[in-house]
Amino acid sequence: VAALPTLRLVVTGHVDHGKSTLIGRLLHDTDALPEGKEEGIRAACKRRGMPFEYGFLLDALQAERDQGITIDTTQIWFRTAARTVVIIDAPGHRDFVRNMLTGAAQADAAILVVDAEEGVREQTRRHGALLALIGVKQVVVAVNKMDRVGYDAARFAALSADIRAYLAKLELAPAAIVPIVARDGDNIASPSGNMPWHDGPTILRAMDALHVATDPGETPLRLPIQDIYKFDERRILVGRVESGRLAAGDTLLFSPHNVTAKVARIEGWPDLPGQSAGPGDCVGFTLDDQVFVERGSIASHLQAPPKETDVCRARILWLDRQPLQAGRRLTLRLTTASHAVHVQSIDGVTDLDSLEMAPATEVTQLALGHVTLRSARLMALDDDPALARTGRFALVDGDRVVAAGRASMAGYADQRAL
Ligand code: GDP
Repeated sequence: VAALPTLRLVVTGHVDHGKSTLIGRLLHDTDALPEGKEEGIRAACKRRGMPFEYGFLLDALQAERDQGITIDTTQIWFRTAARTVVIIDAPGHRDFVRNMLTGAAQADAAILVVDAEEGVREQTRRHGALLALIGVKQVVVAVNKMDRVGYDAARFAALSADIRAYLAKLELAPAAIVPIVARDGDNIASPSGNMPWHDGPTILRAMDALHVATDPGETPLRLPIQDIYKFDERRILVGRVESGRLAAGDTLLFSPHNVTAKVARIEGWPDLPGQSAGPGDCVGFTLDDQVFVERGSIASHLQAPPKETDVCRARILWLDRQPLQAGRRLTLRLTTASHAVHVQSIDGVTDLDSLEMAPATEVTQLALGHVTLRSARLMALDDDPALARTGRFALVDGDRVVAAGRASMAGYADQRAL
């Protein structure tokens, strides 16, 4: 069987709106659970006299994953007709928000779960803003617990309009809005008999319609260098292709150092036959010239490089308890690069309810701030939404992630000196 393209998914939404139940149900409905797992948990529930919940399946898998019991459980995944869907982060994880942002977890798409009875709540708004911020453009909204509102089409239509209006302010258009009952499996893998009025897709169908990172599309090459190994005479550069395509013979430009060299050979890295690599592929390659390259250098083609600057505007989600003020010194981590930066100014704060921006002198915890950052040396970055992976960053204080953000060059010129 040919491998299906992998879709990396995060499941977000307000607490108790049904994220774990939805994931548990997806694993159940796609036969993705290890043999005997569900039966074991059902039996344990019965022994303790408690009702079975689909959310327990996820809890059990996560516990095993965290303890590293078996290789198989290091990733939680299921298959649809056209995709392998890997849940790169799931609720319940204490550092869910932080994980989403550090770059380790880079999603192709998100499911935003909204309780049909409760509607849009604080975390619905915050997670929506977060998805917009980190550049996850593909969002499937699951309106859950439709059983609690009598499977009512009018309630669903009203809620859909609310959600659409909020996401529109974030410049997000949902790929689909699906009315579901996660607990019972309505509109998850198969269309619900309780909601014959729904003319859109099920959750699984909606997954199949999403794009995966392995579609190279028209995006330019971005290959952040992760490591450089020396073997005998050879120097092998290693990294992950974040967008575009790399081929032997290509002339590469390394930013921010502004040096060029040709790809001599793409070395046989796991699973990578041939002499070219696309998005998501980890590659090792050699150059025809010993130019200066280090961890954090971003390789691109000459005609479409990232920008170079020592100053940028940024939208950030501030995570730390202690508010952010101008003058603060932090480390900006963007892909594999680290830069010493300081906050030159606080330019405003956006209210998460109204999404209006107001002037401010500090950014408090979980507020969306607009700041200007200045770095000691040139940084290579992208501010094009199509290149979100080389435009989003984390701000770090020591080893604590204190913010996630995206860079914008509005008002500043590219400082590349070719
Ligand atoms: P999470 O915090 O978002 O992960 O929410 P959970 O998946 O833990 O669900 C919270 C509660 O809602 C649990 O008691 C579930 O059994 C319940 N629940 C989840 N989905 C549904 C549903 O479709 N209908 C009803 N009535 N209850 C549900």
